[in-house]
Amino acid sequence: MTPTPEDLAGAVLTIDLVALKENWRTLNARAGTAACGAAVKGNAYGLGIAPVARCLWEAGCRSYFVARPKEGEELRAILPDATIYVLDGLFAGQAEFYAKLNLCPALISFTEAQEWASFGRAYGRKLPCALHVDTGINRLGFSMAEFAALLGDRFTMEGLNVTLLMSHLACADDAGHPMNRRQAEAFQAVRAQLPGVPGSLANSSGIFLGEGFTHDLVRPGIALYGGNPTQKVANPMHAVAILEGSVMQLRDIGPGDSVGYGATWEAQRPGRIAILGAGYKDGVPRALSSRAQEGPAQVFISGKRCPVIGRVSMDMMAIDVTGLPPGAVARGTRAEILGRNIAIDEAASWAGTISYELLTRLGSRYALFYTGLESDGSA
Ligand SMILES: *Cc1c(COP(=O)(O)O)cnc(C)c1O
Repeated sequence: MTPTPEDLAGAVLTIDLVALKENWRTLNARAGTAACGAAVKGNAYGLGIAPVARCLWEAGCRSYFVARPKEGEELRAILPDATIYVLDGLFAGQAEFYAKLNLCPALISFTEAQEWASFGRAYGRKLPCALHVDTGINRLGFSMAEFAALLGDRFTMEGLNVTLLMSHLACADDAGHPMNRRQAEAFQAVRAQLPGVPGSLANSSGIFLGEGFTHDLVRPGIALYGGNPTQKVANPMHAVAILEGSVMQLRDIGPGDSVGYGATWEAQRPGRIAILGAGYKDGVPRALSSRAQEGPAQVFISGKRCPVIGRVSMDMMAIDVTGLPPGAVARGTRAEILGRNIAIDEAASWAGTISYELLTRLGSRYALFYTGLESDGSA
């Protein structure tokens, strides 16, 4: 019999497109009268731009945000009718590339605005774009003063078809942070200067800050992919990425036996360990290696949580299954490393990082499946 990809891979990554669609609908409802777009930069946060974008389009999503023009090109081939904003703005000398693919740059400076307007004049029409105004994060965007100067430059403004005014929140995941209110007020002031142009301020967490934040279009990323957009509140989103590793070997160990490189973990009593076929090449952070002080990272196997012990290595990791009934785990049993039981936010905090980095650093060696796709289940 021909083996399946999972027969040969050791680790399996399943992307639940039903959960993704459900998450988009939840956010769309939360956004009230605002339209719900999607941040799909970074290969849809590592989950695969093509199946993710097709699924979101089916759900009703029409506006997409990528970081790079190259990502815009890839997305345009998948969704010919979508509105695509390039968050990193207009790359120097590349206006024609954007125009041919109907990509809207989120312009971040006077220079970019002039370049886009003058290209449009030569091209024979006002080309669509967003204006990204920085209201306090001090990353990309027009400063408030530059924005005022742009509005005063009638010639440049007349050359632009501004379809969106946007800004980005610095502290949206901390609902009580005073920065949120300040940025919301600054953005109101920005919008008042260009009445009639739709506005967009909220990322995933921003949607949960309430009415003053949703404006006309919201731009969730991480919440679509299952990350918790609300600090200290139960996660309203469904898990989308499920990473599992299969048991390759079980072994009994006794007091004083160590496990893995560096002999960093030592058994205190007789016990049983399982070696999983998932390592950092498969996207398991090495930082999940047994953490003596803070309490160990965990995986979910046969209905229970079991601690990660020793160091995560390239191809494998060890877990302590002493607490499971005999026979509960066998060669080939799968352990969930990320998913419905081990949330990406929880695993990320064990690894000293955030869910965003965990997802975008998933490896490439696992067997990859998309569930809930009607037509095509392959990657
Ligand atoms: C990445 C990004 C988003 C999405 O952020 P999440 O926190 O993942 O929801 C929205 N807006 C901008 C400008 C971004 O760069």
